[in-house]
Amino acid sequence: MKQAPFWVDDHPRPDGLTGELPDQTDYLVVGSGYTGLSAALRLAAAGKDVTVIDAGDIAGGASSVNGGFVSRDVKAGIDSVYAAYGPQIGHEMWRATERAVELVRDYAERPGINAVTHTGGMAALGRGSKDLKRFDRHAAWFRSKFNTNWEVVDARDIHTLVGGEAFNVALFDPDGFGVHPARLAFGLTREVHREGVRLVDGCRAIGLERSSSGMRVTTQQGAIEAGEVILATNGHTTRELSKELNRLLLSIGSYIIVTEPLGREAAEAIFPGGVVAWRHKRLLNYMRRTHDDRILIGGRKSLHTGLDLNESAEDLRDALLGYWPELESAAITHVWGGNLGVPFDLTPHIGRIDGAWYALGYAGHGVALSCQLGFELAGMLLGEDPPSAFSQIHHPARSYYSGRSDWFLTPVSTVYRFLDRLNIG
Ligand SMILES: Cc1cc2nc3c(=O)[nH]c(=O)nc-3n(C[C@H](O)[C@H](O)[C@H](O)COP(=O)(O)OP(=O)(O)OC[C@H]3O[C@@H](n4cnc5c(N)ncnc54)[C@H](O)[C@@H]3O)c2cc1C
Repeated sequence: MKQAPFWVDDHPRPDGLTGELPDQTDYLVVGSGYTGLSAALRLAAAGKDVTVIDAGDIAGGASSVNGGFVSRDVKAGIDSVYAAYGPQIGHEMWRATERAVELVRDYAERPGINAVTHTGGMAALGRGSKDLKRFDRHAAWFRSKFNTNWEVVDARDIHTLVGGEAFNVALFDPDGFGVHPARLAFGLTREVHREGVRLVDGCRAIGLERSSSGMRVTTQQGAIEAGEVILATNGHTTRELSKELNRLLLSIGSYIIVTEPLGREAAEAIFPGGVVAWRHKRLLNYMRRTHDDRILIGGRKSLHTGLDLNESAEDLRDALLGYWPELESAAITHVWGGNLGVPFDLTPHIGRIDGAWYALGYAGHGVALSCQLGFELAGMLLGEDPPSAFSQIHHPARSYYSGRSDWFLTPVSTVYRFLDRLNIG
């Protein structure tokens, strides 16, 4: 079993696109995942001089290693945004999540990217009458507000979505789809490079200050003057760069394993229609087929980043066999992990701090939303778009979190595991 992301093994990072840090630039984007690349693409297409820097490899964060699930909504659920901020912001944000899915599809279907792998929809999987009622309630609320086409699938038809005995109800969104995350991330990297954006890897930003020309950013490779700075650092945000920003966001770990290729017939016995799916619970699992007929399952034993990968693989394999015991003899070929950026309100944010703009906080919903928020922030800076709904809501902090120690994740993980075992939602 390799301790490396399957996606990057399957589709290696492009070479020869990076260069030196310039002394100045109109727009400096810190972080080269989907958020940073999507912002850079729009700014460069408008003729701006753009530099993207990354502390590690280009697109080496969550964007090249995630599960590749694309769907609408935010982690908190737009129903809670509605409850907190009312129908106008609720509606605007919902429409933005719809546009996010269209934007990713547009990026992913570009001929040089070709990252869409499955178009069979997205399903939340459950079991029993409690989950059925929860899905019914959810589907009814979204239908009444946005006329969504989500279907509640019961025991009679569950076999059309998923094989085995573990699940007997689902909430199905026919518009969800699956991408190959590394093809999308590296494809966008090639697109921004073609648009003339400078890409600088191994270049950690370590300080921000205002200057006569806008901002001065200190990096490991020297200082750079920028008219505007965009922080697109999400789950990799550190105190070193901005103490203020770091205390608004938790870094939470997510881990994935894939099986060896099973062959088309065996993979279709698990996911007949190519749906991407997740098990509704607090420490949830997400599962799908890959383009080469492996089964992928992701999730976490605890909310911490940097968990032991062998233990994570064991834990995820137990979950996999709990759902599909028939996979007992399938070898696990890869295990890896990555960081999610999770704000306390579980809703993404665009904001300004220490003179720099930021867009982050997607939790597990970032494939679509990171592309969208990068695009929206670029539109705001170009003066082409009105302020994004994600910039209109309060970005909450917590008195018990200064960004230094996430001690509370251990007891929270224990409570979540306990509630999941009892199926208390
Ligand atoms: C294992 C896993 C599975 C996931 N599955 C899904 C999924 O199926 N569907 C979904 O919608 N979302 C999923 N997500 C979430 C999604 O991948 C992320 O929300 C999205 O990729 C975030 O993109 P980003 O560009 O904001 O951040 P990232 O892609 O994480 O990029 C941030 C970059 O900032 C750089 N950086 C940080 N600090 C500095 C600094 N000081 N100087 C320079 N560079 C810096 C980092 O090196 C990193 O490359 C998953 C995440 C993980 C980890």
